[in-house]
Amino acid sequence: MQISQDTHPEQGDCAALGIQHNGYRGRFAPSPSGPLHFGSLVAALASYLDAKAHNGQWLVRIEDIDTPRVVAGADDAILTTLDAYGLHWDGKVEYQSQRHTLYQDVLSSLVSCQHVYACTCTRKQIKARGGYYDNHCRAEHHRFDSNALRLQQNYPVMEFEDGLQGHVQIPDDIAREDYIIKRRDGLFAYQLVVVVDDHDQGITHVVRGADLLEPTARQISLFKQLAYPTPHFTHVPLAVATPGFKLSKQNHAPAIDNQNPLPALMAALTFLGFSLSDLQFDSIDALLTWAISNYQRANLPHNKEIQVIQQDNLHYTFTPL
Ligand code: GLU
Ligand code: ZN
Repeated sequence: MQISQDTHPEQGDCAALGIQHNGYRGRFAPSPSGPLHFGSLVAALASYLDAKAHNGQWLVRIEDIDTPRVVAGADDAILTTLDAYGLHWDGKVEYQSQRHTLYQDVLSSLVSCQHVYACTCTRKQIKARGGYYDNHCRAEHHRFDSNALRLQQNYPVMEFEDGLQGHVQIPDDIAREDYIIKRRDGLFAYQLVVVVDDHDQGITHVVRGADLLEPTARQISLFKQLAYPTPHFTHVPLAVATPGFKLSKQNHAPAIDNQNPLPALMAALTFLGFSLSDLQFDSIDALLTWAISNYQRANLPHNKEIQVIQQDNLHYTFTPL
């Protein structure tokens, strides 16, 4: 019998949700921890343009799984801003907080495949053992309740092809780590839900910031473990305040202006490599239409980070790093 490369004898047990969609489907998946700032506008815009330039659909998913980080009202503020910037989504906005049954079903199917185990290691213990988790608890049979749950890494992904970053090599310890899929505090982990959601929503193309380049290897391995088709990944440069630190509330990135969206949208396009110098646009719709027809993925900057100095809502300077 011939077994193709992607087939695993056990995958049938785990192929719980075989949802199929045709054509390109992209998404923007903000965490509602505050209003949109320039960095999140760049991520939204890149995924929007890539989708629309491919005649695709563009979905929005509110990633409110990590409830301690959720700020009340931030979801509405984000959606209002996307609308003000002309980034109109297709279909219904999904909220992770309303999808626990789905996550629990997938977790149960992974547990029944005996790929999941409980881990009691603290951050301090992991640090003392060399700084990365060495699959210490695999054979320990700790109790599941009130412990973190880890997925046994049966599909290590050591490398993948990114739509912009090209060939991406993953450090061995990261690729082989049994990563957490349910946290000690009982919350489903981002690594699990992002894969379940992207599959369930039929996402074919993920375009997002390059801070998620390494976690992508874990996500691809989970797509394989669950026998889900793997989407295409493209990681655009991350907008950083200083090298290594993405724009965020912590480093005081201001919320972008809903009243006057044109300057920030033009700046976001400039960040993404568009040359706008001689052009005049009197509406965001005209600007977006122009950007969609002039978009080419290969023309996006290939850097992992671009430093953004934002004087105010009108003036930005960019330094590729
Ligand atoms: N919610 C994540 C964030 O805001 C993005 C996840 C993703 O795009 O896969 O950083
Ligand atoms: Zn452990």
